[in-house]
Amino acid sequence: MKLTQFLVCFLLLSGLALGQSHTHKKKSHTAPPAKAETWQSIHQSALIIDTHADTPQRFLDENFDLGENTPISQGHIDLGKIKQGNLGAEFFSIWVEPEFKGNYAKRAFDLIDSVYQQAARHPDKMTMAFTADDIVRARQQHKFAALMGIEGGHAIENDMRLLRAFYRAGVRYMTLTWSNTNDWADSSGDIQDPNIKHHNGMTDFGKDVVREMNRLGMIVDISHVSDATFYRALVISQAPVIASHSSSRELTNHPRNMTDDMLRAVTNNGGVVMVNFYSAFIDENYRKASSDPEKMKQRDAEVEAFKKAHVHPDGSPVTYDEYAGIEKKWAAQVQRTPLKSLIDHIDHVARVAGVDHVGLGSDFDGVTSLPEGIDSVADLPKITQALLQLGYTSEQVQKILGGNFLRVMREVEATAKRLQEESKESDALTFEDVELMVGNRVNAAQLIERINQHGVNFDLTSDRRTRLKAENADDAVLDAIAKARRK
Ligand SMILES: [Zn+2]
Repeated sequence: MKLTQFLVCFLLLSGLALGQSHTHKKKSHTAPPAKAETWQSIHQSALIIDTHADTPQRFLDENFDLGENTPISQGHIDLGKIKQGNLGAEFFSIWVEPEFKGNYAKRAFDLIDSVYQQAARHPDKMTMAFTADDIVRARQQHKFAALMGIEGGHAIENDMRLLRAFYRAGVRYMTLTWSNTNDWADSSGDIQDPNIKHHNGMTDFGKDVVREMNRLGMIVDISHVSDATFYRALVISQAPVIASHSSSRELTNHPRNMTDDMLRAVTNNGGVVMVNFYSAFIDENYRKASSDPEKMKQRDAEVEAFKKAHVHPDGSPVTYDEYAGIEKKWAAQVQRTPLKSLIDHIDHVARVAGVDHVGLGSDFDGVTSLPEGIDSVADLPKITQALLQLGYTSEQVQKILGGNFLRVMREVEATAKRLQEESKESDALTFEDVELMVGNRVNAAQLIERINQHGVNFDLTSDRRTRLKAENADDAVLDAIAKARRK
């Protein structure tokens, strides 16, 4: 690997010295695309995976049906536009607003349910998916695959059992934080705020969360986390990580974006960075204009006034979707960024992290401004067209559009399988384990040692006692089993 990295660096450097801009890509004049292969056909043949859309809030809070044709002023995703854009799979974000304090998990499960409801309503067009194979299978059946990722580790309410319950409910990634630092991991959103208690990255519990996610097969998502949390997560995680919706800080200086050093760390980790489409994350001018302190103050005051005027009778918080119109109105005052800004970010991540470590994480339905030309998911083909124009090969484009993510998802699944098999070995002994050892005449002293070391996961019923006795099990062994269970 070292030699390969050296060669890649050498080629990149020599390319820069010659003023060539895309030395890592196949040159179009050396390998012209076959006549039949147009950008449209390349886009149509790709399995496209987007890893972040906030549509579930629309399902739940606005009663939006994915089958409805939705005006672009109101939303970025519906089944018609998904077909037009040839989107194969979407990770719907289970985003838990911090305002739901005390009810984080309830809110998360309500959002999860809303995704299942959509799949149930449109079984001919879409299907729930939980594995990389599911995504591929959905594609073969000409169905759109819906997956889910939790946005904001506070959703697990500091309870590992809830993390596991979310996995069982179908959640396949979790951002360790949203814009808020939680009780176990720091966020980039408030890392400068001295009033927030930070954890120098992550607490011991936070590290255990990452380990348990690895064991379950839930992808560790580092979008939104602070830099220290990012580096700690990479040290701990035994599986590749993703940034489900993050762009480049080198190009646009937002703390939510990733530095080049972080991009290289993701390469070493084997993960993938899915580029966010939001204008403020991909255009430095837009970011500055939209973060004008005076205007932000006015906008926030307007939102607060709206919340006060629209208090829910049941005391539940006013949701983002209710006041999104205000935020969109303020965002519209700033000129949208050209499509080129988005392509530049994809290109930058591909150059720094490598073309095997970049993908798409649109943040559709969660952002107030998208680049010119990208009004909705229907416009995804324009990204394919632009990348091909830039000199990327059709094979590279297919990786960016979904292949890279699929590889990472498979690796996360394989890591979970391995970890589960390993932990099984050290786990408490089953009755079958003990019976087998007794049957194989493992001597009493050795057997007792193993029983004491691992414990047993079964009760010594009279039936089991009789069966072990029939195999001539020592009374001391039976006593050890009874004691090991009590532990
Ligand atoms: Zn986000």
